[in-house]
Amino acid sequence: MATKFFLLAFLALWASRALASDPSQLQDFCVADRTSQVFVNGFACKDPKTVVVEDFLFSGLHMAGNMSNKQGSAVSAVNVAHIPGLNTLGISLARVDYAPYGQNPPHIHPRASEGLIHFQFNTGDKEAIAIAALSSKNPGVITIANAVFGSVPSISDDILAKAFQVDKKAVDHVQAQF
Ligand code: MN
Repeated sequence: MATKFFLLAFLALWASRALASDPSQLQDFCVADRTSQVFVNGFACKDPKTVVVEDFLFSGLHMAGNMSNKQGSAVSAVNVAHIPGLNTLGISLARVDYAPYGQNPPHIHPRASEGLIHFQFNTGDKEAIAIAALSSKNPGVITIANAVFGSVPSISDDILAKAFQVDKKAVDHVQAQF
């Protein structure tokens, strides 16, 4: 009886563990073939015989992006679009430069979670840099303000005025910025 109970308890504990993960690699690499006419979830693999060193290289990340915009920031993404060798590896990164008082506006990545691996605090008088690690070869980005106030077709100002508890003029003013 006791043995059965412990077996049951063990099975219950074991079964409660989440075993989900990205599919494991079935080959050493799968360099993205952007010329392929095969449409799969991601990119088809280039013929391994034609893979070259450059498929795994990217340079230029040591240079700051252009921060002269309304947000005072620049995002330099390095994902499968820049390094075809990242295909199927589930990782990418981005360099974010901040001008004094600049910001990277609130956003989400629909296909990835994000972690900052390096950040220099923006003290106001100096530029700052953040390096973000993302758990997807192609994380995507949805900037909240653009999606809410700059969508095409636009979201009715009636709806947004109520949602943000302001009058319609305020909404129209913000929508006009996009
Ligand atoms: Mn981000």
